[in-house]
Amino acid sequence: MPTTHTLIIGAGQAGLAMSRCLTDADIDHVVLERGRAAERWRTQRWDSLRLLTPNWAARLPGWSYRGRNPNGFMTAAELADYLSAYATSFDAPICEDSAVRSLEPHDDGFVVRTDDAVWLAANVVIATGWCDQPRVPAMGAAVDGRVTQLTPYSYRNPGQVPDGRVLVVGASATGVQIADELARSGRDVVVAVGRHSRLPRRYRGMDIWWWLEQIGTFAKTIDDAPDPARARSEGSLQLTGRPDQRDVDLPALQALGVRLTGRLAAADGGTVHFADDLPATTSAADGRLERILAQIDDHITASALDAEVLSPSPLAHLSPVPPTRQLDLLGDGFSTVVWATGFSRPYDWLRVPILDRAGEITQRRGVTPLPGLYVLGQRFQHRRDSSFIDGVRHDATYVAGHIARRVRPHQRFTPLTPRTAP
Ligand SMILES: Cc1cc2nc3c(=O)[nH]c(=O)nc-3n(C[C@H](O)[C@H](O)[C@H](O)COP(=O)(O)OP(=O)(O)OC[C@H]3O[C@@H](n4cnc5c(N)ncnc54)[C@H](O)[C@@H]3O)c2cc1C
Repeated sequence: MPTTHTLIIGAGQAGLAMSRCLTDADIDHVVLERGRAAERWRTQRWDSLRLLTPNWAARLPGWSYRGRNPNGFMTAAELADYLSAYATSFDAPICEDSAVRSLEPHDDGFVVRTDDAVWLAANVVIATGWCDQPRVPAMGAAVDGRVTQLTPYSYRNPGQVPDGRVLVVGASATGVQIADELARSGRDVVVAVGRHSRLPRRYRGMDIWWWLEQIGTFAKTIDDAPDPARARSEGSLQLTGRPDQRDVDLPALQALGVRLTGRLAAADGGTVHFADDLPATTSAADGRLERILAQIDDHITASALDAEVLSPSPLAHLSPVPPTRQLDLLGDGFSTVVWATGFSRPYDWLRVPILDRAGEITQRRGVTPLPGLYVLGQRFQHRRDSSFIDGVRHDATYVAGHIARRVRPHQRFTPLTPRTAP
């Protein structure tokens, strides 16, 4: 049975950051990855996707962007290369093609089974990703079978979508980007808008991500959140990273001819029904945006930066939208529904009692109630940016420190027992 002190499950940015921290601490470990390093960015992203975070905000332990365009936005393939180069830089001990099928307690540690091996480890770090599986609401099952249903992981480009109109459900980063791409390819698109948080790409001459860092948004911790459960269930930002820096928001979609409706409330065969909540949803998003911009303005004044930055420019607003309460998908020529409705994390392979009532891993700063079991990359795990590329380094450092205190000095450098190839 191959043995190691610490098993990391998943070689995305979180698993790699963890591996780098354990390498620096001379702690024996292995990373089990079901595909290749950065697998999601190789096989589970649509063709035109770029990061919404700027290149400079891809800092990992001992690694940062050194290219020529720190203010640009990497494509998925570029991020996969960036993460692979990171793994190579410290010779990360990754076992590829090793999908973990189960994890269970064993003596003072854990047994972890893949298709080919049974691993024994004193510690395990779960780094399988917050965006594990696209979440399709139960009403998806009630949509007529003649309508094609896609998710952010199965959508690739407009050419793949059957002829006809498209309903995009969800208006966070994924929904607006896919709607924009489909509309620009000549498709007739309707977007069902749920709760979202809107941000402009640039404000007063600087990138919004830079401003958010300046005003301390990302350093806010879950302890600062008045309602932690709500903070952790916030949707992704309605923000995109494009070479031309243009905003892809609801006013921009409306100007392209995209029809906007309220939240999708029900599906019944070929008919879908919408809530009458578009004005309330968009004015709530505008209100949150105005509060963030006011914080930035206050920061500018407090830092005496007024003369250094541009004056505020007016925000685009939606023109009045006649309410749409239902659509006859088949009768109105809709071929496809794209579900951009968030992600879920099925932890059915975890045979340990650490899930809360919502099915999420119980943890504080990545430390679960089971000694030796850790998690990384959770939404708002500790900081606001815990699940972002740039934020995981803080949690990885903290978890590595916790693991280091559990590892006795003589256990460093060498595996507990000689490791055999799985
Ligand atoms: C469309 C999209 C765009 C995004 N854009 C940005 C962005 O611009 N900036 C940003 O900061 N964040 C972005 N995110 C959030 C993004 O998910 C995280 O930043 C980040 O990639 C998550 O890294 P991770 O290592 O936690 O998880 P992942 O990258 O998901 O890595 C988890 C790894 O675990 C592996 N794995 C899963 N299950 C198993 C198993 N059972 N056994 C073995 N291996 C397993 C997977 O193959 C994967 O390689 C985006 C997310 C999505 C979905």
